[in-house]
Amino acid sequence: MTDSQTSKKPKVAVASTSRDGKSSSVGKARFNRASEGRPFAVRDPGELATEPRSFVGRIESVELHPDAPERRHTIIIDAVDTAVGLGEVDRPFADWERENLALLRIMTTAEKFAELAKMDGPYDENGHENLAGRWMELQLVPRGKVSGPLAQVCRLGERGYERLERFTVSEITDFGFDPEEPRSVGAAANSSKVVAARLSRRRQPKGVKASTTASWHDIAQLYSAVANTAVHSIVVHDVGHANFTTVLDSTGAPMLHFDCGWPIPYNWKTYPPTEPAGPYANIVVLSHWDSDHYNGFHRWPAVQNAFWVVPDQKLGPNAEFVVEALMKVNRLILATPFPSKAFTVGSITVIGCDPSSVNGKSKQMNNSGMAMSIALEGKGNVLLPGDADYLGINNALYPAPDRLVVSHHGAKVDGTVPTAPSTCPRAIVSLGLENCYKHPSIESMKAHAAAGWPLEFTSELPDDVWGRQASRGDRIIV
Ligand SMILES: [Zn+2]
Repeated sequence: MTDSQTSKKPKVAVASTSRDGKSSSVGKARFNRASEGRPFAVRDPGELATEPRSFVGRIESVELHPDAPERRHTIIIDAVDTAVGLGEVDRPFADWERENLALLRIMTTAEKFAELAKMDGPYDENGHENLAGRWMELQLVPRGKVSGPLAQVCRLGERGYERLERFTVSEITDFGFDPEEPRSVGAAANSSKVVAARLSRRRQPKGVKASTTASWHDIAQLYSAVANTAVHSIVVHDVGHANFTTVLDSTGAPMLHFDCGWPIPYNWKTYPPTEPAGPYANIVVLSHWDSDHYNGFHRWPAVQNAFWVVPDQKLGPNAEFVVEALMKVNRLILATPFPSKAFTVGSITVIGCDPSSVNGKSKQMNNSGMAMSIALEGKGNVLLPGDADYLGINNALYPAPDRLVVSHHGAKVDGTVPTAPSTCPRAIVSLGLENCYKHPSIESMKAHAAAGWPLEFTSELPDDVWGRQASRGDRIIV
C-alpha cells in the first residue's frame, strides 16, 4: 500500500484545495511575495562559539515536545549579553549595541534545567510549569569543554535575528520572577542580578502605565478605517515556524495584520524559499509577545511605521526593545488585559483571552493576550486564536467559526475544538515543517478532524505521518 490507507497512519482529512504556493496572488488578494529567494543568513545549525559568554534574561516560553521520548523541552530565553554594563543597561535600547540583545534556546528537559539552576524543580506545588517569566543568569562555554545542555544563541541584527551560535550551558542562576536590586551594589557577584532587576522594571515604574503613545486623532482614524471597511479575504502567510496573517479588503488592500512573525534562527529549517513582500497594512494586532509572532518588526522595516495594538504583558528585553521603538515613533497602542471581554469594530472582534483558565506559566503567557474573530463579507466568520488554547477564549464572545486558523501552530491545546459548520469548512495550520517544537501534535490534528475540519497547512507535511506530501505556501481564506 502506498497511500494514506496504511493502518498505522492517523485518519485525518487533508483538504484538497489548491496548494500551489502562489495562492496569495489569486483573486483580489494583492499581498505579494518576494519574486526571488533571498539568501538567509542561517542555513545550518550555526557556528560553534569559541569564547565563553554570559547572559541575563527572562524565560519567554517552555514547551514540551509531545511526541518526543524523555520529556524533552524547548526553553526560550529573552536575554542580554552581560557585556552590557550597568552604565548601558539604563540607556534607551536605541543606544545599545544591538548584538547585546539575544534570544537563547536551551535544549534539555525542564527538570534538568531546574536542577542546573539549583531549584527544587520546574513545577509549582500543583505540578504546573513554573519557569516561564523567571529571570536567570546563564554561563555559556564553547562546546566540548564541559558536559551540559546545548544553547543556541541568536543575536539581534539590523534585520532581526540572523545568526546562530552554539554553546554549552555550564551554570544557571535563578533570580526569580521579580528580581530585587541588591542593597549593596558594590558586591560584584551581584551585578547580573542588578541588570535583571533593572531590565524587569524598565518600562513600568510603580503606578505608571503607558497605554498609548498614538494620538487620539490617529486612533479615531484607525477606528473609522476598520469600522467602515468590509473584509474580503485573509492570507495566512507561509512564514515557516512563525505566525503572520493579513486581512484584506474588497480592493485587495491590506487592512491589518494579526501577528507579524518570522522564524528565529533556531527554526532555520523552516524558512520559506521566499518571503512576504507587502504592501503592508497600517495596523498590526499582536496576539502575544512570543518572538516568533513579532520578529517581522525587524525583518520588514515597513511595518515599523504601522500602529501596533499589543497586549500589556510582562516582557524581557528583546520584546521591550520593540515596545520602546514603537513608543518613540508614537505607534504603540498598549491594551491593558481584558480577560473574557471582547470589542467589535466593523467586521473585526478582538477577544481578551483568559490566563486563569489554563495552568502553567508558559501557557498563561499564551492566554494573556488577544484572539480575533473576523466576519468575512457574506461568507461567515473566521476565528484566529494566535497561540491561545480554545479554553482560554470564552466561546460566548465570538460567533461559531465557519473558517478556522488552528491554534498554536497545531500544538496540543486545552479545551474543545470549535465544531465545524456543515458547509465548506476550512481550517488552516500555520506551521514550518521540522520546527524545533515538533508541531503539529497528531492528537490535536485528530481532535480538529473529529470536530469536522479538513486541514490545510502552510508547510509541507511530514509524509511518514500523514501519508501525503503537499507543497508549502500561503493559504488564502475567502
Ligand atoms: Zn507561536
